[in-house]
Amino acid sequence: MPAEPFPSDCDVLVIGSGAAGLAAAVTAAWHGQKVILVEKDAVLGGATAWSGGWAWVPRNPLARRAGIIEDIEQPRTYLRHELGSHYDAER
Ligand SMILES: Cc1cc2nc3c(=O)[nH]c(=O)nc-3n(C[C@H](O)[C@H](O)[C@H](O)COP(=O)(O)OP(=O)(O)OC[C@H]3O[C@@H](n4cnc5c(N)ncnc54)[C@H](O)[C@@H]3O)c2cc1C
Repeated sequence: MPAEPFPSDCDVLVIGSGAAGLAAAVTAAWHGQKVILVEKDAVLGGATAWSGGWAWVPRNPLARRAGIIEDIEQPRTYLRHELGSHYDAER
């Protein structure tokens, strides 16, 4: 049986099936765009599939309501460490 032709017509072509690609694909589809997502690996997910899945959003309202109080120096210390000379105290 001949293989079905691979669809090649789309509004949005997303390369990669990690969090960024899937978020872009789902958002574009939700807005009515015809989306094709391609992945070079045999399985979907990229590094995202290995990740711990934690998102640190310091001092956010939900955390505060849950009683998680973070000193502002904690995210500043993290950013200084990660950004090195690109750290911008004003931002
Ligand atoms: C062990 C581990 C734990 C982690 N834990 C956390 C955490 O707790 N919290 C956190 O915020 N972050 C964490 N991270 C980091 C986080 O996983 C990554 O920053 C995030 O997944 C990146 O998402 P992405 O969509 O940009 O890339 P990826 O998830 O890597 O997706 C990129 C995809 O694109 C595909 N691709 C690349 N080139 C091509 C091509 N030419 N054609 C087709 N497909 C292509 C790749 O195969 C891959 O599937 C962790 C990372 C690791 C490795």
